[in-house]
Amino acid sequence: MGRLGLKIDVDTHTGMKNGVPRLLRVLRDFSVRGTFFLSIGPDNSGRAVLQLLKNPLFLKKMLKTRAPSLYGWKTALYGTILPAPMIALSFPLLVRQILDEGHEVQFHAWDHRRWQDDLPKKSEWWIEEWFEKGVSGFEKLTGRKPTAFGAPSWLIDDRVLRIVGKYPFEYLSCTRAKAPFVHDSLRLPEIPSDLPCFEELAPQNDLAAIAVLMNDGGDHILPVHAEVEGGVFEEKFRQLLKGALTAGMEIATLDDLKNSLNTELLPRRKYQMDLLPGRHSPCAV
Ligand SMILES: [Zn+2]
Repeated sequence: MGRLGLKIDVDTHTGMKNGVPRLLRVLRDFSVRGTFFLSIGPDNSGRAVLQLLKNPLFLKKMLKTRAPSLYGWKTALYGTILPAPMIALSFPLLVRQILDEGHEVQFHAWDHRRWQDDLPKKSEWWIEEWFEKGVSGFEKLTGRKPTAFGAPSWLIDDRVLRIVGKYPFEYLSCTRAKAPFVHDSLRLPEIPSDLPCFEELAPQNDLAAIAVLMNDGGDHILPVHAEVEGGVFEEKFRQLLKGALTAGMEIATLDDLKNSLNTELLPRRKYQMDLLPGRHSPCAV
């Protein structure tokens, strides 16, 4: 049987504070390890409310997925009428606990929301500063530089990859794709998320759909969100882990999966942007 990597993104202050401890408990209960991609800096989630007014598809998704009940109303106001709190930087002991419990910790974002909303409009200088702040905050929390980057909302462009090349990253997890490849401009392996997120699937068939994709004997990466699987979907996440382990899958960190790859043999590819089912904005694929 194949292996299952858990790519756990922490996007918000609430996700860090409440979702991460719940997920740590779940992983402990199953004696498995995951890879946490942390948002380090300010939580400007409230800007999503502004997005609502600008993007009808987003509004539809918010209503369909009941995002306010997933993320909480307070989160919906951070960075607007409530000040933006720091995400991982507010919880140094929790970051230490993730590491102490044997999980992999990597870099997801400085300001997740601004990247997600405004990256194409931002200057290269803004992106550079975003990485500088994020990586130095990460170092402050963990005592080392991150060795992987997973872009917020799987949103990247050529400028981002140029800047990524200045850091000692050993792999990226910035795309949604069927199998690992090498980014042609960087010679860095990409460990993509190939499975869908829980919140992208219709509620009636979510687990079954993921289980079918997962049980083909190959390696897979499940994108997990601290706010979701560490919140209203905790029970479904437990069922999924139970199913994977019962089927004989091994749960591995993304770093383990990267180390077992022969990078020389991987195809070299350039990412493309595409709108995937259940998402409101294009992802790198
Ligand atoms: Zn994210």
